[in-house]
Amino acid sequence: MSSVFDDLVGQEHIIDILQKAVAASRTGEESQEMTHAWVFTGPPGSGRSSAAVAFAQALICPNNGCGTCSDCNSAKTSGHPDVEIIRTEGLSIKVEEIRELLTRVAWAPSMGGWRVVVMEDADRLTESAANALLKAIEEPGTRTVWLLCAPTLHDVLPTIRSRCRHLQLRTPSLQAVTNVLINRDNIAPGMADFAARVSQGHIGRAKYLATNESVRSNRKIIMQLPLQLGSLAAAFQAAQTLVDLATQEANESSDERDEKEIEKLQEAYGKGATGGAKAVKELEKEQKSRATRMVRDSIDGALLDIATFYRDVMMVQSGATESMINTDMREQIENYASSHPTHSTILKINAIMDARTNLAQNTAPLVTCEALMCRLAKP
Ligand SMILES: [Zn+2]
Repeated sequence: MSSVFDDLVGQEHIIDILQKAVAASRTGEESQEMTHAWVFTGPPGSGRSSAAVAFAQALICPNNGCGTCSDCNSAKTSGHPDVEIIRTEGLSIKVEEIRELLTRVAWAPSMGGWRVVVMEDADRLTESAANALLKAIEEPGTRTVWLLCAPTLHDVLPTIRSRCRHLQLRTPSLQAVTNVLINRDNIAPGMADFAARVSQGHIGRAKYLATNESVRSNRKIIMQLPLQLGSLAAAFQAAQTLVDLATQEANESSDERDEKEIEKLQEAYGKGATGGAKAVKELEKEQKSRATRMVRDSIDGALLDIATFYRDVMMVQSGATESMINTDMREQIENYASSHPTHSTILKINAIMDARTNLAQNTAPLVTCEALMCRLAKP
């Protein structure tokens, strides 16, 4: 029989725990297996929110998460009265949003079982929002199950994480990702292998790359940047290229969505109504902050790609060539490795990681990339 847990690639170690929790949840009581607060952590792309959503489905499905019934389907698309999936588009989750959520989930579950709240970005809770949430988690007997997702346990307030059961997802193996792309997404084996390798276990990214030619050609341009840093002028040019491509990629995916959202909102208010204009303005503000975040995420992805170039260079310099990520650039990587000192490769990888940290702290993207490219341009 099929199950919502089938899609969790490389996470066999937590599926057993979740299935036991689902079985125990049928008593309607809390127990050693079934608790009402969980934290799912794992590297980007490991599927922490997919795991949490699958668990939510299994908890409300009469067949323990069959993946095909109406409860399973509506839970996945946020259409189930007893399942809330909180996806954050902005940079933070504010206390007002949590208060509003708490009034929504204050009612008893409509089907008599559990109410489940999945919070995909618990790391973005402001401190006051986290404290409001904490009160709700501490309240006994509400029959609400909290499934929080975050990159690491450190991203969650200690007072909250101490009340949650923790599940750590793994980065799926290269082979596991390749198999999913071939079997689930019907991608040709050669392309699946390439996409899985350069995405380093990030399934969503791998699929995006394998099915999108313009994304692949952008990546190719980005991967050539380390080879074009012959002068400071070239370094500044490379930074500009990186930011331009990342912005373009982010905008392509958000423009269409923005328009649809505004249309929907206007429909809801009726064109020309007075309340509508204000709501549209609010929405546009939110869309702007989401766009900023998407550009940052996109630059971060490009920086991780460039890091794989230097990682491969270091592998060659240390004599380990069999685990090369960018096999399509083997000759260029080998040339670079033999004409640059090993110690500078390590400094360059560190420089990329510093730039990512700065970017996450909201420094101006172009300035950050310029400073980085200047450091990478050194021999
Ligand atoms: Zn079901």
